[in-house]
Amino acid sequence: MISDIFCKIVQKELPAEIVYEDEEFLVIKDIHPQAPVHLLVVPKKHFDQIHAASHEDLDLLGKMVLVAGKAAKLAGTEEKGYRLIINQGQDGGQLVPHLHLHLLGGKALGPKIIR
Ligand code: 5GP
Repeated sequence: MISDIFCKIVQKELPAEIVYEDEEFLVIKDIHPQAPVHLLVVPKKHFDQIHAASHEDLDLLGKMVLVAGKAAKLAGTEEKGYRLIINQGQDGGQLVPHLHLHLLGGKALGPKIIR
């Protein structure tokens, strides 16, 4: 069975600051925030590679964006804006091999890609 840090947080085997939870998702505060608002939208179902997704995953992927929108409102970032990021694989800088969407905000975030 696959068990990464986020699986353990979903199973409540590891602690996290949970700001939203429903049947399929957790939204937690990132342990090393890169902005005043840095939340992670984490599907409870283990899922890793976006490029391996199929039509069967549309529901999960679509809901993840909807949950990110709810989280943006909960964090008070809906008016001034925010950034949603998925890091995938080694070159994408992914640290945790469990799909998650970063929600960053609370300040002007600057250039999108550091050269
Ligand atoms: P990735 O680089 O995989 O897209 O992002 C993983 C994120 O998870 C990082 O921003 C990192 O700070 C965060 N993170 C890693 N371990 C933990 C943890 O145990 N708890 C929480 N809340 N965040 C974590």
